[in-house]
Amino acid sequence: MVVAETIAGVGAFKTMFDMAKALKEMDAANTRNMAVMDLQDRILAAQAAYSTLTHRISELEAQVKSFETWEAEKKRYELRKFPPGILIYRLKPGMENGEPPHEICADCYQKGTKSLLHNLGESEGLTYWKCHTCGFDKSTGHYLAVTCRPE
Ligand SMILES: [Zn+2]
Repeated sequence: MVVAETIAGVGAFKTMFDMAKALKEMDAANTRNMAVMDLQDRILAAQAAYSTLTHRISELEAQVKSFETWEAEKKRYELRKFPPGILIYRLKPGMENGEPPHEICADCYQKGTKSLLHNLGESEGLTYWKCHTCGFDKSTGHYLAVTCRPE
C-alpha cells in the first residue's frame, strides 16, 4: 500500500518534472523566438537604412556629375555688360560646339544653372530679353525716340 502510493508519488513527481522541463523548454523556445523576431526586425531596419544610404549615394553622385558638367559648361561663356548696364553671359567665340551664338541668364548662371536668354525681339533700338527659369525680363540698348519729320 505504502509502496504503491510511493510508486504513484514517484510517477506524479516524474510527470511534474516532465511538465516543468517542458515549460522550461517552452520558455526557452519563446525566448529564442523573441530573439529571432528581434533579430529579423533589426535586419529589416538595417536593410532599410542601407537602401536609403545607397539611394542617397546615387543622388550625390548625380549631383557631383552635374557640378562637373556645369564647371566645364560655364567656361564656354563670358560676362558682358549691355547698355544701360545689364549683365548677360554670351557664348565665347570658338566655344560654339556646333551651337548657334546665344546668351544665357547671369542670375541663373550665379545659381549654377544654365538658362537660355530668349531674345523676344528688337524695337526702337532696344532688344528684349527673357529668362523662363528665373523670370529675368529686361531690355538692352539705347532707346531711339521716334522723331517727327518736319513737313
Ligand atoms: Zn534666369
